[in-house]
Amino acid sequence: MIWTNWARTASATPARQVHPATEEDLSAAVRRAVREGHTVRAVGAGHSFSAAAATDGVQVDLDRLNALHRVERDPGTGNALVTVGAGIRLHQLNRVLAERGLALQNLGDIDRQTIAGAVSTGTHGTGARFGSLASRVRALTVVGADGEVTRCSPTEHPDLFEASRLGLGTTGVLSTVTVEAVPAFDLCAQEDVQPVERVLDELDHLVDGADHFEFFWFPTARHVQTLTNTRVPARADAGAPAGAGHRVRRAATAVRAFVDDEVLSNAGLELANRTATAFPAVTPRLNAFAAQALRPRTYTAPSYEVLCNRRRVRFRETEYAVPRAVVVDVLREIDGWLRRTGENVPFPLEIRFAPAEDAWLSTAYGRETAYVAVQQYWRLPYGRYFDAAEQIFTAVGGRPHWGKMHTRDAAYLAGQYSRFEDFRRARAAADPDGVFTNPYTRRVFG
Ligand SMILES: Cc1cc2nc3c(=O)[nH]c(=O)nc-3n(C[C@H](O)[C@H](O)[C@H](O)COP(=O)(O)OP(=O)(O)OC[C@H]3O[C@@H](n4cnc5c(N)ncnc54)[C@H](O)[C@@H]3O)c2cc1C
Repeated sequence: MIWTNWARTASATPARQVHPATEEDLSAAVRRAVREGHTVRAVGAGHSFSAAAATDGVQVDLDRLNALHRVERDPGTGNALVTVGAGIRLHQLNRVLAERGLALQNLGDIDRQTIAGAVSTGTHGTGARFGSLASRVRALTVVGADGEVTRCSPTEHPDLFEASRLGLGTTGVLSTVTVEAVPAFDLCAQEDVQPVERVLDELDHLVDGADHFEFFWFPTARHVQTLTNTRVPARADAGAPAGAGHRVRRAATAVRAFVDDEVLSNAGLELANRTATAFPAVTPRLNAFAAQALRPRTYTAPSYEVLCNRRRVRFRETEYAVPRAVVVDVLREIDGWLRRTGENVPFPLEIRFAPAEDAWLSTAYGRETAYVAVQQYWRLPYGRYFDAAEQIFTAVGGRPHWGKMHTRDAAYLAGQYSRFEDFRRARAAADPDGVFTNPYTRRVFG
């Protein structure tokens, strides 16, 4: 069986694929793999652009370990602590939480990933005060190479916890994840088109003045699309199951939402990208048009509906976390390179923001961060563009997203993370024989 990731940038032929239905099955599968001399990699939804999940050993798919285990109250924050099977998809988790009047504090751009896959690579959204999914993880259970199940948290096996909550699955297979949830909330979403110079000049004000701010910049266009989301209390129907109450809120704008979300963002983007692939000379005009095609709109909906989108157009991506203070310079350099070279790129840059975090390998570790996602349509070459962007990112101490394409190795990364050696020690203690490794993890962790 050949396994391929969503972006078709990584593939592998696992010796065996297993779908354990219980934690005991999972332990037995790991023990058997080790006995037979295989390495083991857990796979989530295969939505990493990097080869993080690829393996020629035993591939463990946790799609059957996706149950809600319990909801407790965190005595410290009063928030809910929700324990789920590690294979639960984010869209399933969002629904489970909504039915209980709860929500994840922040989310990325899509909801197809598993919770374990998303936290293991540092998946993030945007918002100067709202960090990544891994920053919300409060406990984990990890199945080690001996098949033993260990519960870890900041107070139980703290080093294992740190290395497991964002460690590409190199300490073992996560079987459950306990994540902090907040009371369900709505987002008032404001989508706009603004001149790029105004956005770059007023960036701090835009980012700090909003709960969640991000923007999309089609290469060389002079306008950008800005998304500003404001947290507001959930309406009374927010806990209703999907398809009932909260969908009504969008009903008045259902046609409009369909046009904006499906026609412009997906079908229109696909058409523009196919056109640009066939006729590269039109790309700058297409980009200038696409930048302004979005019609400003405001609507309010449950947080996860606003934050997560459908991405039907396949693309490749590298994304770096850079110190927030230098992001405007970084963007100007990328824009300059695109203008100088005339590289054919009909896909937008996506720019997001995050607070400093404390997970050892969080790309936002210890510093306020801006994320710059450099994307290319999957039928077009990406090599020169991504290489040029990486040079710009690494010159300012950028840290690559663990689940996206990049060329960095352990020597570079050790210089970017002050707890890198602590991570390596904890990983080596958890898995001295390298059972949970693959070529990608050996490159990035050494
Ligand atoms: C269209 C698209 C949009 C995206 N948007 C965003 C975004 O907005 N923000 C962002 O930060 N990222 C984004 N990503 C990247 C994505 O969130 C990450 O790559 C994420 O890791 C994918 O989750 P997954 O479940 O597919 O995991 P996989 O890609 O299958 O695996 C990722 C890693 O997690 C490990 N893993 C999986 N399950 C387990 C387990 N049970 N135990 C131990 N280790 C495990 C794997 O071994 C691997 O190392 C996007 C990707 C795509 C394709």
